[in-house]
Formats: sequence, structure tokens, C-alpha cells
Amino acid sequence: MDMGIAGRTALVCAASKGLGRGCAEALAAEGVNLVILARTAETLEATAAEIRQQSGVDVKTVACDITTPEGRAAALAACPQPDILVNNAGGPPPGDFRQYTHDDWIRALEGNMLTPIELIRATIDPMIARGFGRIVNITSSAVKAPIDVLGLSNGARSGLTGFVAGAARKVARDGVTINNLLPGLFDTDRIATTVSAQAKANNISFEEARKQRMESIPAGRFGNRDEFGRACAFLCSVHAGFITGQNWLLDGGAYPGTF
Ligand code: NAD
Repeated sequence: MDMGIAGRTALVCAASKGLGRGCAEALAAEGVNLVILARTAETLEATAAEIRQQSGVDVKTVACDITTPEGRAAALAACPQPDILVNNAGGPPPGDFRQYTHDDWIRALEGNMLTPIELIRATIDPMIARGFGRIVNITSSAVKAPIDVLGLSNGARSGLTGFVAGAARKVARDGVTINNLLPGLFDTDRIATTVSAQAKANNISFEEARKQRMESIPAGRFGNRDEFGRACAFLCSVHAGFITGQNWLLDGGAYPGTF
């Protein structure tokens, strides 16, 4: 299917690895020019070079921490008027909610709620003026069902979800959609870290812990960044103009509810 977005420009945050990279690659495969960012210049440049080679699109890079005002300023200077914005950043650390300090909460809110809101605020009016815009926020299955050790994520991402539910309806008439993609368990560095911690805590091998996590998913496996990216590219396509304010769970059936 032709997604109808060739020649558009996307700003894809936290895209040197994992799910953000999957989104960048899938958009590039549709002919979308990219500005991608991540904190580590070397990894970012290597990813950009691979995407250019795979797709032939224009890929600019910005090495920055998107959760800081300076990082956002640098990203927006490189890409002031994207047609497509993919919001993403690292997730907050696990822990016991009693141990989280006020500063921990502020960091989580900055990273997983206020940064995407700031980027939406900065880019949405030109999208409205052009009559086309696609905003996709990478959140988490934690907004659908809380994850025991991720209280910071459960809270901060739910704040973003509530904001998006309202904002999406305010711009729906202007050709701009805002949706959230909710990953369950995907095979990325983030999951490798969580599985290592689980293996250590239960005194089992990394492979055994990985197998146990996979067995908890009806699909019997982790997701991969390519299928995540393809879902993102569809939401950004001309065919998804009637889909807005939605929370798409990509979890291999792990969420047990009927709805
Ligand atoms: P990852 O560790 O594989 O990749 C993270 C990417 O983000 C890297 O490119 C890194 O450089 C970049 N990054 C991190 N913090 C950044 C910052 N402050 N500024 C700029 N770039 C930054 O992680 P992932 O698995 O792709 O996860 C992406 C998001 O999805 C995270 O918020 C994660 O918590 C969430 N998530 C992931 C899963 C999963 O199964 N992988 C599940 C639920 C939620």
C-alpha cells in the first residue's frame, strides 16, 4: 500500500535505537525525509548512515537530550516545521513508589509528559496551516494496565494520554491527527536491561528470564522494531486521517481485557 507521504518531513525523537529507530526506518521506507535525534552522536550517525543507504531519503541528525529545553531548541532549529512528529524518549527507572522523590517525579514528567507536549505545542500550528499533520507519541502498555515496578511511567505517561485525548479533538478538523502507540514487550535494549534485572533477582540465567517473559505473551515472542515502525508509518499515512485520539496497544495479546 502506498502510504501517500513520500516527500514529507518527519522529526523522530530518540531514534538511534529501538522503537524510535523502527519508526524512522519505516517512514524512510515510505520516502519521508527525516530529522532524527538521540543523545549519543556516534550511534546516531551510524543509524542515519544506514537509513540513508537503505532508503535514499534525506536524513539530518541532532545529537541532544530531548528532555531538556536546549535539546528541544536544537531539534526544532533543525526541523522547525515537520509534517510528522514522533515523540519518544527513554523511560523512567523502575522502583518502589515509596522511594521516589519529588525530583524523580519531575524528571519523569519532563521526559514522558511535558517534552512531548512542548514539541506538539511548537509544531502543531504550521501543520494546521498546511492542513496536514501527523503526531505519534510512543507511550507504553502501562497506560492501559499499570506495571508494578514502573510507577513513574504509569503516572507520567497517563498524564500525556489525558492531554492528547483532549488536544486531538481540537485539531481533528484541520487535517492533523494525534495518536499514541503503546508498546508491550519489544526486543530492544530497554527490554534487555529489564530482563537482566529479572534474571539477577530470581537467580536464573538471562536466557531463562527471557523465555519466561516471552511465555507470558500470547504471541509467544517479543515484538520487533520493524513491526512497531510499520504501525507508526500507517498512522502517519494519508489513509489514517480519520484515526485520532487513539491508544493503539501493540503487545502480542498480552493485555487480557476484551476491550
Ligand atoms: P531503547 O533503549 O532501545 O532506545 C531508546 C532510544 O532513545 C535510543 O536511541 C536513545 O539514544 C534514545 N534516548 C533515550 N533517552 C533520550 C533522550 N532523553 N533524548 C534523546 N534521545 C534519547 O528503548 P526502546 O525500547 O526503544 O523504548 C522507547 C520508549 O518506549 C521508552 O520510553 C520505553 O520506556 C518505552 N517502552 C518500551 C517498551 C519495550 O518493550 N521496548 C515497552 C514499553 C514502553
